[in-house]
Amino acid sequence: MVGDVDLVFAARRGSVENVELIASRICENGVSTGLTDIRDQEGHTAMHWAASGGYVHVIRILAKYDPALVNALSLKPRTIDQTPLMWAAYSGKLDAVVALLECGAQLNAVESVMGYSALMFAIQFGHINVAHVLIDRFHANVDQRDFRGSTLLHFAALQGHYSIIHYLIQVYSVDVNASTRDGFIPIHLAALQGHLRAARVLISYGASVSICNEKGQNAIHIAREKHGVKFAKAIESCASRDPFQSHQIPGDFPKDILNRFRTRMKEGNFALRCPQILVYVFPIIVFVNYMVYLFILRDVSVRRYTLGFFYHLFILASIFAFCRILLSNPGFIPARSLDYVKSTLLQQSILPGEICWTCMNLKPMRSKHCALCNRCVDRFDHHCPYVGNCIGSNTDRAFVVYLCSVFGALSCALGLLFHLYFRSEIVYPFFSFELWNIMCISVCIVDTICLIGITPLLLQQCYLIVNDITVNESINMTRYNYFWDSHGRFYNPNDQGAFRNCLSFWYRRAARAVYYNEDGSPQTPNLNTKKDDNLVDTTNNSFTMDQSNRV
Ligand SMILES: [Zn+2]
Ligand SMILES: [Zn+2]
Repeated sequence: MVGDVDLVFAARRGSVENVELIASRICENGVSTGLTDIRDQEGHTAMHWAASGGYVHVIRILAKYDPALVNALSLKPRTIDQTPLMWAAYSGKLDAVVALLECGAQLNAVESVMGYSALMFAIQFGHINVAHVLIDRFHANVDQRDFRGSTLLHFAALQGHYSIIHYLIQVYSVDVNASTRDGFIPIHLAALQGHLRAARVLISYGASVSICNEKGQNAIHIAREKHGVKFAKAIESCASRDPFQSHQIPGDFPKDILNRFRTRMKEGNFALRCPQILVYVFPIIVFVNYMVYLFILRDVSVRRYTLGFFYHLFILASIFAFCRILLSNPGFIPARSLDYVKSTLLQQSILPGEICWTCMNLKPMRSKHCALCNRCVDRFDHHCPYVGNCIGSNTDRAFVVYLCSVFGALSCALGLLFHLYFRSEIVYPFFSFELWNIMCISVCIVDTICLIGITPLLLQQCYLIVNDITVNESINMTRYNYFWDSHGRFYNPNDQGAFRNCLSFWYRRAARAVYYNEDGSPQTPNLNTKKDDNLVDTTNNSFTMDQSNRV
């Protein structure tokens, strides 16, 4: 026979069969106090653990046997009076939140330490989708405050969740300068924690850097005290000149290249404008290389005609690919309006986490907002300053061709130089020998440096294509939920095996077609690509994580 407390452990492991078995046995034995009194050593019920693990089936079974469990309060001093709904909210388990509320959980209950509600927990832990469902579907109060008088915006600012700041201000018009009892406004907290981006977003919505708290400190004072002069200057400069001040929604991206550069300079993120000049690196290197070829290497390539042929082939291919990337639309997703977000997206059960708050449109699964182009780019890989454009769904193939052909051209050029020097095929020039030598050696050095620089990039691209991951995804992997199953293990939903990944990279249709209807309206993105393994193997006893430490 198993003890009653095994119910808590079974719920913590998400074991549906065991929970059903133990709960039914306890209820058959006629325990009058119900399941609420069955707790682990720390004073948490089975429902708390089922909620934080997101085990929807377990939640429904427990609620069936004892409805009072849905609103059971924690007894542990540090987490006193926390409800299962709060645990589900801070763990970001949306399905569990919905299940608990449908089973009768109290939406606006607050715990006794700080006066936090489930919505406040969801926002503190950055779960914008949970927050949206709590507010929009279950009508949680957006004006609620904790015991210190902190608003929802304070929590978002404290943790640096800038998309939640966008969401709360744009959709629910919350007060950007609301003050706690001790005079802290949200931007004070962003400055306190060193969240520059959150501070910038707050400033762009009119947060004041001159309002002081009770100690007489404004946001800049706090920033200087906690994170030094440099950080304070950064906030100050945001306040004096904010590129997103007007919250203008980006227009259509110009087709012609001159206007495109002008648009980037005008709209793009100021700090990132400088690399624009790097776009000249490739044309200059090609020009210098070809001059050396014309004046020096041509005679070698007459004898080494295979090398000479491939040299030309690769140079032409790289110029073609360079122009193709530079001149094409990398897969920009058209910008919409706030009305569109409110009336269409938020009502179509599309969650705020999938919305770009600058473009006011849906972000398809593998897209990202490029700060330099100020547009969302479909299947965003990275913004490459050397080709002056984003690498997205429309330019990624050309980018691989570009890398390969530059690699080939550099190798051929170095091969010709090798024959020139080491095979003593020296051709005497019609100008001075010293100049000749300097030109050859400098081209040799530049080409070698470029080759060393480009080889890891090429290898990385090949590796990522074989595994069907973009550069952006490989860098920001932890940000994307679809890479992690419910146990936090890595899982790539796009991976179809190396061969098919390569095929689909080259032959796929624009990924955007998956997310947009013919008329340009968004389809509901498929969020169910995660492996559904809520039903954990009941023999797995290796669960050791203590989640109570996380609050
Ligand atoms: Zn965007
Ligand atoms: Zn870009």
